[in-house]
Amino acid sequence: MDTQNSGFNIYERHDFDCECGRHHKMPIGEVVIDSGAARKLPYYVKALELGKKGILVTDEVIFGSIGREIYAYWQEQGLEIECYVLKGHIRPDEHTVGNVVCNTPFDADYIVSLGGGTVTDVVRYVATRLKLECVSIPSAMTMDGFFTNMSIIIVDGLQVTYYLNYPSLLLADSDIIAKAPSVMNAAGVGEVISKISAGMDWYAGKLIKDIYYCDRVEAMMGECIAEGAADETIEGIVPGEKKAIENLTDALYKSAVAMAWYDSSPCGSGAEHQLNHFWIKCQDEKGVPQSMHGQEVGVGAVINTMIWEEIMAIDFERFDVEKAVEKTWDRGEWEKEIRAVYGEGAESILELQAENHSFDKAVRRNEIEKIIEHREALAKRFEAMPSSGALIEKLKKAGAPWHPKQLQIDKDELVKSLYFAKETRSGRYNALWLAEALGIMEDVSSKIIKKLEF
Ligand SMILES: [Zn+2]
Ligand SMILES: [Zn+2]
Repeated sequence: MDTQNSGFNIYERHDFDCECGRHHKMPIGEVVIDSGAARKLPYYVKALELGKKGILVTDEVIFGSIGREIYAYWQEQGLEIECYVLKGHIRPDEHTVGNVVCNTPFDADYIVSLGGGTVTDVVRYVATRLKLECVSIPSAMTMDGFFTNMSIIIVDGLQVTYYLNYPSLLLADSDIIAKAPSVMNAAGVGEVISKISAGMDWYAGKLIKDIYYCDRVEAMMGECIAEGAADETIEGIVPGEKKAIENLTDALYKSAVAMAWYDSSPCGSGAEHQLNHFWIKCQDEKGVPQSMHGQEVGVGAVINTMIWEEIMAIDFERFDVEKAVEKTWDRGEWEKEIRAVYGEGAESILELQAENHSFDKAVRRNEIEKIIEHREALAKRFEAMPSSGALIEKLKKAGAPWHPKQLQIDKDELVKSLYFAKETRSGRYNALWLAEALGIMEDVSSKIIKKLEF
């Protein structure tokens, strides 16, 4: 789809009836991606009628490097705005939320976040709770989460995902984002790369599990990938070229548009995103710092693509269905493994998968037959995808990690993630489920270990 000819501006709030039969919408008020965008806040506050009084929330590092100057500039322009600077290392938890609430004036109309994922998440949460208009100014382009309504807040020590109000305004300023450490924007490239493998998973889900699919959403995701994974974008990340930063930002915005239209994430989140959740769990257990989301899903995309390479290397004409069916685990065996891998978290997974994960051989046989039935369509889609080697090259060029060990994930953790990362969600379908259904996971993991020279 050509976004220019779609009858509306995707950078403003919009909704439409789609050929797929659903009504799609993108609720962000306005998105501006430009050099100097943050300086235009006074103009947009007026134009979008965000109210009289605002408060800027940022952290010490960002305030020291760019915030102080922008804040002074807004005040010179006559904007009535206060400022609250979060101190030290920030966690998106009750304490930080409380600090922001207590430092927001009673008569504030809108709240502005200037910072990375944590500040943005906290401000979006507080804005919704206090019923304020929300403005986001990202300081680095690490992921597509800046353009969504989702925040992860730690409550009682647990990460809780909240679906909140979308921002009224998003100012993505390439002057600011280009100054971020290039590894942060490289993580954004990882997020774009992840959409490539996610798209393959989503397509397989449509064919094999009748998961809802929309061609317009797919085309929008295609634009994200074409722009964000283009050589000129990737090559400009390390030197911090503004044009490259704007392309990356635009690409990540388009991914968010596609997911907002779809109203869920399967179109942009496949096995690589599930692997990322598992690896974060491993990092937490070892006490090593969590990697950035975009870094993890970039590596995840390499692994996911490697799984697809093994699946599509199968000669389906000669595939021994019964041999694969015989490899179906029995429920008891599987439960034992889930308890060993997930410990305290096991019960909720067993409950979640009670209906979703079948151990019935007849169901398994049916799934395999469906895979074989759709082998040509899968092969066609797969051939249009870059190879795992090509993805590695792109990630390397952008300065993003590409190998699990760069995330401090070892060989055993990788293998475990291949078997069990998929269990934390139901109603999804991806290469991890396919490999299990086809009974090839043992072979797939040893081949991946070899390819990675682990
Ligand atoms: Zn549609
Ligand atoms: Zn993501």
